[in-house]
Amino acid sequence: MSSSEKTIRVQLPDGSEKQLSAGSTPLDVANSISPRLASAAIVARIRPLNGTSAAAASEASAEAAMYASEDSQSERLVDLTTPLHEDVALQLLTEKDPDTLKVVRHSAAHVLATAVLELFPETKLGHGPPTDSGFFYDFYRPTPFTPEDLKLIEGRMAEVVARDDKFVREFEPREQGLARFKADNDFMKIHFIERFTKPGEEISLYRNGAFVDFCRGPHVPSTGRVKAFKVTNLAGAYWLGDEKNPQLQRIYGTAFFSKKDLDEHFARLEEIAKRDHRVLGKQLDLFSIQELAGAGLIFWHPKGAIIRKVMEDWIKEECIRRGYDLVYTPHVMRVNLWQTSGHEGFYSQNFFTKMELDDADYRLKPMNCPGHILIYKNSPKSYRDLPVRYAELGNVYRYERSGTMHGLLRVRGFTQDDAHIFCTPEQIESEVAACIDFAQVVLKTFGFNDFKVELSTWDPKDRKSYTGSDEKWELAISSLEKVLKEKNIPYKTIPGEAAFYGPKIDIKVVDVLGRLWQLSTVQFDFNLPERFELEYVGEDGERHQPVMVHRALFGSIERFFGVLIEHFAGAFPLWLAPVQIGLVPISERHLDYAKKVQQQLQNAGLRVELDGRNEKMNAKIRDFTLQKVPYVLVMGDKEAEANAVSVRTRGKGDQGSTPLEEFITKSKKLIEEKSTEL
Ligand SMILES: [Zn+2]
Ligand SMILES: [Zn+2]
Repeated sequence: MSSSEKTIRVQLPDGSEKQLSAGSTPLDVANSISPRLASAAIVARIRPLNGTSAAAASEASAEAAMYASEDSQSERLVDLTTPLHEDVALQLLTEKDPDTLKVVRHSAAHVLATAVLELFPETKLGHGPPTDSGFFYDFYRPTPFTPEDLKLIEGRMAEVVARDDKFVREFEPREQGLARFKADNDFMKIHFIERFTKPGEEISLYRNGAFVDFCRGPHVPSTGRVKAFKVTNLAGAYWLGDEKNPQLQRIYGTAFFSKKDLDEHFARLEEIAKRDHRVLGKQLDLFSIQELAGAGLIFWHPKGAIIRKVMEDWIKEECIRRGYDLVYTPHVMRVNLWQTSGHEGFYSQNFFTKMELDDADYRLKPMNCPGHILIYKNSPKSYRDLPVRYAELGNVYRYERSGTMHGLLRVRGFTQDDAHIFCTPEQIESEVAACIDFAQVVLKTFGFNDFKVELSTWDPKDRKSYTGSDEKWELAISSLEKVLKEKNIPYKTIPGEAAFYGPKIDIKVVDVLGRLWQLSTVQFDFNLPERFELEYVGEDGERHQPVMVHRALFGSIERFFGVLIEHFAGAFPLWLAPVQIGLVPISERHLDYAKKVQQQLQNAGLRVELDGRNEKMNAKIRDFTLQKVPYVLVMGDKEAEANAVSVRTRGKGDQGSTPLEEFITKSKKLIEEKSTEL
């Protein structure tokens, strides 16, 4: 085939087209646009213009994506040096395109393998894919790599990068490639070739310098483009995940476009580790999980418990102010109730196992809804009574598999700030709107100003996972949509994520590190009113069925607390801090004055701790600082004489002397405002 006579059409993202001779490469295209683009480009994304539109490639397994020959009909990433033989839409990708980071990381895995083989030639290669946070490569070598080896490998990788060898793609008849890998006893490569290619095919190889790997790419143009990388750790892995197979050594690393990105990545990891609520929970003595009691069950220590009390008092008062009634319901209830509610069927995998008592079987409650429904049903309701809003800080127990629990974030027992609203169909939109407003107030009050909203809807094709008619689902979804639109709240619709009984709105907060946490939820339910045959007498004197909204704003108090600890890194705002003020008498003779100050602060409703130990002043200040106490008041002769205190503010240091009365007024104001400034 003489391709040189043929020309091809290359369509660029701006809609313009270029005519090039067949066999031209994406790099030629880049050079024809600008040399700057040519040196910034990493790979190209192409889509055949005459091909069948195919979007299937993404379904393939990660391994197949590394080895199987690519579907020439689908959109795909290719090397800049790939010869083009047909009309394509082509996009040159630079660091600005997030997809290219994976290519850099996969290329870094080749650089790692190059370094390992140069230093430890007896090593056999497994595979080396990119991951979400970096890359790894699996190696077989009877001698374990030591931490010193890893340093050595990282150093050699830098040399491989400095050589700036081109990544060159080569093709070889399959049988010839297999024979070569067999001669070298490369049992893993042989496996991948046999599994992912067919007899008679050519196999794709990538070469950089003397190193050759079985791989379909794409890769960066040369090793020098792996600019910022680090070997991070070593782990064991069985070949093909089977413990009867040889044990492999998996070396992990990460790579970024620049040293700056790399440094930021590690700084962020450090910050996340420092904020870990399990670490801070211990350090600040907030809560514990006790082996003797069981996993996923939380013990709230005094300092955690006082924060929880403040949260609970606040939410209860807000509920009352917004027309909710507070209720309490039992923790165990008969299985019959859960059969009526439908939880026995749809929710059974989340229950704790049954308790057999002499009169019936009982279950620990995983939800509060049926309890609230029984209160609603206990007396006849008229349209004048609606909406009825029942709120409860309800303790629920849900079975999570052992080994899946995580601090406060994933537990087996927790408390929901749960509420159920029973209303007429006409009231539904205003009730949902009020819930969304309330949720925003809750989240903002606790220092979260950035939210993402999701509307979870059903999957009409998956009927068995949902209950209720099409009309009811349509009505419910459209009323939730209407509320979000009227409030101008941007949201994402997620099909197939609804609860079995109706669609829901989930509010995720973005914390200071930019991480997303699912907290508040507002759910529509047309199922339970039907199952429990709920009624109200309408204006027309007839019996009607109310609709029901479930909503939890903290979500789980445990989980919310976990997120809060990480968000504030344990430095709670003044109004939430377990100890708001630490008192430090300079010496023993100032203890009496300090006790007087303590009394006055406590009388003003402030939470105070007096350090009366016979320790150096600075040691006492340091201890309060480590406990992240917002204010530390130091008292000596001068302060005692003037009825004043010397104030140290968290994060701001020594603020000088202030009259005690003035300090109290100022603190109470900050607490009153629920300020997140301090
Ligand atoms: Zn590769
Ligand atoms: Zn509920």
